[in-house]
Amino acid sequence: MTEFNRKIVLASRPAGRPRLTDFRLEQAEMPEPTDDQVLLETIYLSLDPYMRGRMSEAKSYAEPIAIGGVMVGATVAKIKQSRHPDWKEGDIVVAYSGWQSHAVSDGSDLRAVDPAVAPISTGLGVLGMTGFTAYAGLHNIGCPKAGETVVVAAASGAVGSVVGQIAKIAGARAVGIAGGAEKCAFVKAALGFDAVVDHRAPDFVERLAEACPDGIDVYFENVGGHVWDAVLPLLNDFARVPLCGMISHYNDDALAKRSVDRLPVTMRDIQQKSITVRGFMNVEFIEQQQNFLKAAAGWIADGTLKWREDIVDGLQNAPAAFIGLLEGRNFGKLVVRISPKQ
Ligand code: NDP
Repeated sequence: MTEFNRKIVLASRPAGRPRLTDFRLEQAEMPEPTDDQVLLETIYLSLDPYMRGRMSEAKSYAEPIAIGGVMVGATVAKIKQSRHPDWKEGDIVVAYSGWQSHAVSDGSDLRAVDPAVAPISTGLGVLGMTGFTAYAGLHNIGCPKAGETVVVAAASGAVGSVVGQIAKIAGARAVGIAGGAEKCAFVKAALGFDAVVDHRAPDFVERLAEACPDGIDVYFENVGGHVWDAVLPLLNDFARVPLCGMISHYNDDALAKRSVDRLPVTMRDIQQKSITVRGFMNVEFIEQQQNFLKAAAGWIADGTLKWREDIVDGLQNAPAAFIGLLEGRNFGKLVVRISPKQ
């Protein structure tokens, strides 16, 4: 039977919320590895908020995906065929091969996955880019001390769940913000945060203040918007804010038009309370990745670090799952299982 490569390409650039018609499923010839290349068979595809930015032409830290180009993304893949001296058939790797069932790689984007440490899908989450982002942002910018209060939004998600747990390991008090009762219950009971507040509740602002009686020393910013509005008045003098992302604005054309101007209040508080706000990209700290992987493997082995995955089956279902991610419909690290036979 002839095998094809199935891929999802960008059909059109979204205005605001992406639509299913912005994506197109295509079938192409199976790629052939040349010397020093491998053929990858995708097992899991990571869906991440940054992909929304790549669909847009707006100026950014990375090139936009071309119309008709394969959607970008990290994957866990099996090496199906190797003509590369460093990799053999059957090896499991993290790659950056995008929304497709197969791809060739010259090896430069590959990292070996050790299935003995944890299920291989975690190479995209708790032991992957999102776990590392939490570690790098918290340790290099947040610098939590024992007894301090660390608040993180999107706390049941890929980055936020790890931020709170590492804050606890550092001896800090971890307060999560999450959307809805089910996610909040998970953050408190399963992840062990000290407190959690539902940002969809009508009394969210009051509840957050109650959960932080000594103010906030570190706020790990994943969300922006109304969550930032509630956090800002609670930030203590000399608070640190690792600015990791602002997902509530990714579909928001109003941001470009500046229809909601948070800037004067934000700047005033930053100045008057000597707050440090530091944006970052995880790759800035990439030399710390091995330290992170070692530490995280230890925390997983002794049960300190927990995670939750939201696994969607089938490449064809990736667009709908991605649209849902930008609206909080995922519950845990969002991953698409591409190859069910693994
Ligand atoms: P998550 O797994 O946390 O999923 C996204 C979550 O964001 C949703 O489940 C939802 O949680 C919340 N959310 C979505 N839309 C909104 C909204 N409109 N208002 C409020 N909350 C919303 O995603 P990640 O952990 O992968 O990413 C979290 C953040 O980290 C993102 O901003 C992302 O861009 C950023 N990031 C930055 C990196 C860097 O290097 N700087 C690297 C990786 C991620 P809930 O329902 O609980 O509100």
